[in-house]
Amino acid sequence: LHVLVTGSTGFIGAHVVDNLLAKGFRVRGATRSASKGEQMKAVRPQYASLLEFVTVQDFSHIGVFDAVMDGIDAVIHVASPFFYNTTDNEKDLILPAINGVKSILSASAQSGSKVRRIVLTSSFASVLDVDRNPPPDFVYTAEHWNPLSYETAIDPGSSSVVAYRGSKKFAELAAWEFIKTNAPRFDLVTLCPPMVFGPTVHPVSSVDQLNESNAVLWSVAAGADPLPTARVPAWVDVRDLAEAHVQALMSPGAGGKRYIPVSPEPFSYESAADIIKDQFEWAVDSVTRDYEAGKKPQASYGVDGETVARELHFRYHRFRETVVDFVVQVRRDFYAS
Ligand code: NDP
Repeated sequence: LHVLVTGSTGFIGAHVVDNLLAKGFRVRGATRSASKGEQMKAVRPQYASLLEFVTVQDFSHIGVFDAVMDGIDAVIHVASPFFYNTTDNEKDLILPAINGVKSILSASAQSGSKVRRIVLTSSFASVLDVDRNPPPDFVYTAEHWNPLSYETAIDPGSSSVVAYRGSKKFAELAAWEFIKTNAPRFDLVTLCPPMVFGPTVHPVSSVDQLNESNAVLWSVAAGADPLPTARVPAWVDVRDLAEAHVQALMSPGAGGKRYIPVSPEPFSYESAADIIKDQFEWAVDSVTRDYEAGKKPQASYGVDGETVARELHFRYHRFRETVVDFVVQVRRDFYAS
């Protein structure tokens, strides 16, 4: 099978690429940056015959994938803007996220298309209701949707965090609506991960170029004071998430489903600080002392990550393993002299 991966030179997309290659799929990565595509290829010489990159335009345009679908059987659509230093929330985050989804779906529905499944990286942001005051035993499942309205998401008074949540919700909704309205020959699977952490396999030129979620985790090792506050106590390892994407593509029964890949272990940046200090001698001096050490992370609600792990046959990493693997890599890649 020949799979198109969008966002292929980003944090999650590059892991999806590697997971597919390891399973023998042919992969076409889409990126706005030809040079990042070249860098990805250069460090994967063993996959020269399976891996290619195509350059696409920014999602401020629509129809950006129309010309790159030739021979493609399935799509994993990972690309979406994920950053918080915006100047115009609707223009920077919300419209590109929706345009990207509409572009990939309409390109996959062109006449002659061989695409039979699309896996979409949505987010727990499209599930979570931040205003809910859940009872202690409340568990989010894939049935839940963030009630945020479009008007609030685009309101210039809303923060970029709110706008990002809206971008993911309304992009995912656009995908489900496309399926309902157009009844295309492909089906859809969406994945709604919370914070994603772990080692990187995409081109990162310096530590300040780390993707948004890993940058926050690294800030703990680098001495952030106060420690960052976790907006959600839920996380998943990027390698588990990549496996979930690829299993979602391969598993016949997954069509039409929405899943939440989330580790059963809640996390906090305090627990990350504990792990980093415990594991790395150098970190005893760099990590702030100004927090309550040794406190177990508390989650005010549960999130059902068991369903996807059971149905798509994978196991979750432990938080400790993810943090250690990531910190080891950052030190090696950016601080080794
Ligand atoms: P990255 O920023 O590393 O990757 C995002 C990718 O999206 C980039 O490779 C970029 O492609 C592409 N992209 C971004 N903006 C645009 C745009 N305007 N037009 C075209 N392409 C664009 O982030 P992640 O890998 O962390 O995130 C990937 C996906 O996972 C996103 O959909 C994000 O919402 C979702 N997600 C991430 C979480 C996390 O904690 N990391 C949590 C939950 C969901 P290029 O530069 O190559 O063209």
